[in-house]
Amino acid sequence: MYSCGPTVYESAHLGHYRAYIFVDTLKRVLSFNGLKVRSVMNITNVGHLTSDADVGEDKVEKAAREKQMSAWDIAEYYTKDFFDAMQKLNVERPDIVCRATDHIEQMIELVQKLEEKGYTYRTSDGIYFDTSKFAGYPDFARLNLQHLKEGARVEPNPEKRKPSDFALWKFSPAGTKRNMEWDSPWGVGFPGWHIECSAMSMHYLGETFDIHTGGIDHITVHHTNEVAQSEAATGKKFVRYWLHNEFLMVNGEKMSKSKHNFYTLVDIEAKGFNPLALRYLFLTAHYRSKINFTWKSLEAAEHALNILREHIIELKGSKNKESEGREKVESYRTKFLEAINDDINTPAALSTLWELVHEKDVDNRSKLELLLKFDEVLGLGLKDVKQKEEQELNDEIRGLIKNREELRRQGKYSETDEIRKRLDKEFNITVEDTPEGTKWRFKVRKN
Ligand code: AMP
Ligand code: ZN
Repeated sequence: MYSCGPTVYESAHLGHYRAYIFVDTLKRVLSFNGLKVRSVMNITNVGHLTSDADVGEDKVEKAAREKQMSAWDIAEYYTKDFFDAMQKLNVERPDIVCRATDHIEQMIELVQKLEEKGYTYRTSDGIYFDTSKFAGYPDFARLNLQHLKEGARVEPNPEKRKPSDFALWKFSPAGTKRNMEWDSPWGVGFPGWHIECSAMSMHYLGETFDIHTGGIDHITVHHTNEVAQSEAATGKKFVRYWLHNEFLMVNGEKMSKSKHNFYTLVDIEAKGFNPLALRYLFLTAHYRSKINFTWKSLEAAEHALNILREHIIELKGSKNKESEGREKVESYRTKFLEAINDDINTPAALSTLWELVHEKDVDNRSKLELLLKFDEVLGLGLKDVKQKEEQELNDEIRGLIKNREELRRQGKYSETDEIRKRLDKEFNITVEDTPEGTKWRFKVRKN
């Protein structure tokens, strides 16, 4: 499977994470079914223009100019930033991560192939794909080309024969030196954004491969163009199955950089949320449904996740050994499998998980085993729950709790209260004084 990766010119936002948590879930579902998956994701570090079409500045070069850094450094910085976030969201690294700039040779070869077959033409600013030569061009997105106009805010390029034609190779603007540019048979320049994905996916997965993913915004242009240029070059079917995720919205609009209505993982963490609460939130909706992001919904997701974690801790501590309710266990396993195999129905999978949590007729050990098995698909980090809590309860917290207990015994209640406040504020821990002694737990955020 191949997934269109991020364009690395600034931090990704929560909408991007929806796309990549979906990709990760899809891969986990395939593996859960016993399939061997080879997953590829690209890093777009060159060629994605500010207009998302063939005009405007290269997003990475623009960020480099504004931040007075080299385009190479900007791209590496935000690539690392992206994977750091992915790790926090429990997204497994794809088997192959490929940077566009490492595959210029394959891109040039693909353009040459298209040129040999007569699909290209030259303008003053680049080499273009002639969409009128590829009969099936509108089929992929069921486009009505009559109505297809270049974006209203974008200067139409008068040299293009049709608005749907797109750049395969762009020349470096005369008189300027880009940070990223390469020699080619047509002149110094850089690849178009679409050719990158065709060249890299076919390089790693062959001319026909199984699955390609991306957000629904890619259907009409980016993926339509990928199909056209790939199939024109090889004469073969490019991709067997396309899976497109719906958007994360804010107040009814797509969360996006250009609308300035986005939040990042830093925003989430600054408010004290566990990044995995975001993952939980995304799993509560089907990938082809829109999600409207609100802080309330994130709070509800974190609340549910915390309760789930508490159940796991309890089950881990349970001594129950006998194996009861095997038949029930099998029926839950089947129900879960049916949900995830029904076009990745994660809301149904989650509801099966909760049914199992509350099931009385399955012994604790089998229940825990099966919940952890489900989590191989859901990726909520349940396996690590206990250990993580122990880690987080570092020496400082342990010292504070001990100290507090001592002060309480001595009747120094105002100092005891100070420590309680500190544990609450700094460590998100609630303490409760009971006849059996002090009990503590990680706080569940209140709405
Ligand atoms: P980009 O870096 O803009 O190419 O986007 C990377 C991926 O994130 C693409 O597959 C987009 O479709 C997806 N994406 C961008 N914004 C959103 C959003 N608000 N909700 C879901 N997916 C998104
Ligand atoms: Zn792509």
